Parts: sequence; C-alpha cells; structure tokens
Amino acid sequence: MTVALVPAAGRGERLGANGPKAMVSLHGLPLVAHAVRGLLSAGCVRHVVVAAPVDYLDAMTAALAGFEPVTVVPGGADRTASVRLALAAALERVPDAKIVLVHDAARAFTPPALVRSVTEAVAAGAPAVVPVLPVTDTVKRVDAAGVVVDTPSRVDLRAVQTPQGFAVDVLRRAYEAADVATDDAGLVERIGVPVHTVPGDVAAMKITTPFDLAVAEAVLAR
Ligand code: C5P
Repeated sequence: MTVALVPAAGRGERLGANGPKAMVSLHGLPLVAHAVRGLLSAGCVRHVVVAAPVDYLDAMTAALAGFEPVTVVPGGADRTASVRLALAAALERVPDAKIVLVHDAARAFTPPALVRSVTEAVAAGAPAVVPVLPVTDTVKRVDAAGVVVDTPSRVDLRAVQTPQGFAVDVLRRAYEAADVATDDAGLVERIGVPVHTVPGDVAAMKITTPFDLAVAEAVLAR
C-alpha cells in the first residue's frame, strides 16, 4: 500500500507570483493539482496528503476538490516540518501503508509511469529510490567569491527528481533524526541507508522560474 506526500506549504517567491508557488496557475489548473493528478493517475497511490500554507488551506482544498482520495493539512514552519505533518496524516488514514512517495508540487508533468517505476523499485526491496537524469551541463564548485575550486567529473553526477520513494519505516526513522533538509533522500543517506536510483524523465522537470512556467505553458498548448 502506497501513500504520497506533497509538501506545498512554501512561499515560492522565485516564480515571482504573489501567492504560494503550488497555487500558480498552469493551463488553468494550479501546479499542485497537476502534481496530484499525476500521482493519482499512476494507479498505485492509495492516498495523497498535501501540506498547504496555513493561510491557503481553504484555497488549496478547493483547488483539489475534484481529486480523490486527497487530504490537505496545514504545513509547518519549514519543509521538514511539513513532511513530518503530512507523513503523520497519511499514516493516520492508511495505517498499513508500506511505501511512501514524496513529490514536489512544482513537477506538474511527472509521468504516471515514473510514479509507478519508483513505487515498483521500493516494492521490489530498495529502502529508498530516487529518479535521476544524467547531468548535461558541466558542474563546478566555487568559493564564496565565485572563483572555481574544482570541476567534478560529470560521469558520476546525476540530477535528482521526484517522486522519491521510501519504505515507510525508513522515512520515519530519517525524519526522527532530521534537522532541516531540502531533500528527503539526503536524510536517508545520513542514517546510513542506501539510496537507489531509477531513470528519471525530462517531463518531470521542476517549474522554478517564470521561464520554466512559460516552457510548461507552451508544452501544454501543443
Ligand atoms: O522554499 P523551498 O524551495 O525550500 O521549498 C521546497 C518545497 O518545500 C516546496 O514545495 C515548498 O512548498 C515546500 N515547503 C513546505 N513547507 C514549508 C516550506 C517549504 O512544504 N514551510
């Protein structure tokens, strides 16, 4: 049994919108609704819990009214707190869940097949799974002054997408030990549990900037 968490309680100022990023409209539907639709259409997710900004609880609940089964809960002070609250709410609703996915609201086009492939890898025994793509840009490490320190070999680098999938007990343990993190798999690495990878999908791009949003609109308009 699989549940999915969507931490969407942030402000998302980088997109330049007034409200939270998850409520930014893409082709007439908020980003969070696209993300939830992708999770549910995979057919393997039993329940989705969305963590919403406290002052947008009603708006996000209304935006997701057409999707079932979805619960919207108030988020916490940071992403880590929001995931903790969403995980607790999901396990209250589906106490025998064995697999939990954590998904970015900003990945509006995530293909249902990717959701299934992450879920299947966890079901097959991997304690933690992330979808990854090869890095196409050369990546450099720089110092505080912006001067290049070194150039890691691109061959070993991967860009990480979501949904990230976990055995429920593994994510619970990682969050018991957690301080603050932007990446759930990073917390799992810190408790010494191996994180496996599956091939990601370019369509699972993260919509972060107004340019990304314009690209997304253009893709949907086709
Ligand atoms: O703002 P930042 O990029 O760190 O947010 C990453 C993700 O965590 C976003 O999807 C945001 O909505 C979510 N978040 C959250 N609760 C917070 C802060 C951020 O769910 N208090």
